[in-house]
Amino acid sequence: MPRDDKYMVIAFGGNAFQSKGDKGTPEDYWRNAYKAAEIVVSLIEEGYKIALTHGNGPQVGIIAEWMMAGLKMKELPPMTLDIAGAMSQGWLGYLLQQALYNKLVEKGLLGSKVKGVVTVVTQTLVSKDDPDFKNPSKYIGPWYEKEEAEKLAKEYGWFIKPDPRGGYRRVVPSPDPQIQVEIEAIRTLLDNGFIVISDGGGGVPVYKDEKGLLHGVEGVIDKDLGAERMATALGASVLMILTDVEKVYLNFGTPNAKPLDVLTVSEAKKYYAEGHFKPGSMGPKVLAGIRFVENGGKLAIIGHLFKAKEALEGKSGTRIIPG
Ligand code: ADP
Ligand code: MG
Repeated sequence: MPRDDKYMVIAFGGNAFQSKGDKGTPEDYWRNAYKAAEIVVSLIEEGYKIALTHGNGPQVGIIAEWMMAGLKMKELPPMTLDIAGAMSQGWLGYLLQQALYNKLVEKGLLGSKVKGVVTVVTQTLVSKDDPDFKNPSKYIGPWYEKEEAEKLAKEYGWFIKPDPRGGYRRVVPSPDPQIQVEIEAIRTLLDNGFIVISDGGGGVPVYKDEKGLLHGVEGVIDKDLGAERMATALGASVLMILTDVEKVYLNFGTPNAKPLDVLTVSEAKKYYAEGHFKPGSMGPKVLAGIRFVENGGKLAIIGHLFKAKEALEGKSGTRIIPG
């Protein structure tokens, strides 16, 4: 169902929670959450209806480290990766939920413009036959010596691989997201005046069996691709992906780097195929933008977290448009 121009999905990158140089203390997390909340509230004041989502890569890595430390010191059994993903949604959702609530109270907007703020633990359907399950490639958690990695792999059924940066690490699949199981709940909350935080980390990956029952999968979905699925399903007009660079570049990281202001879908596809956008960072953002616009979205924006307003006004960021 198409919505009005103010219906928007915003995807926060890792820098919304941990800025460069941060140790990752609770104080760091709160400070960053309040900065992100301020940005969202300024857009609410302009009449935008917002579904928020966020990445969770660093946090799932941290949870995995905690679990392995717990195992070593106290023989506490580690949880599975889908449970770790759900933990990260609660962790980051709580921070944003409280920071947004407090900012809305300060501005006198709670109860008038916004009914409330709510985080939805979100499961995202993936195909059991996704090719990534046969050849997992996403590194997570601690680095190990070969021997210990092999022992853990045997004990917990992990895939391990040598990391190009040294040592051995667990690798997990990153399956393509299909649809959020809770999409109707998210839609209902949005339509009733709530700010919704959902689909953290692209959602916890789950598959459906022959009986229609859900089962968690040990994998990590890409949050940008998950955000596209949600924005498309909600019929949002705008998908805005906020990260730590102001624009998408051609020839990124070379002396010929060239920032892009506007890209049609066909231009974006051409540059994507030419390899201008790195896999695992800018690649999935551009791909999410392409998919969103191809699926009927009006505009995808990739921009800097602190320039969200300017990006919406076309003064910053890179826009992907039909054509
Ligand atoms: P997030 O946590 O927001 O998802 P990522 O690190 O995954 O952040 O992606 C943003 C990063 O993508 C930038 O910091 C930049 O280093 C990298 N990047 C790779 N290719 C490009 C490109 N072509 N243009 C701009 N940035 C790029
Ligand atoms: Mg990323």
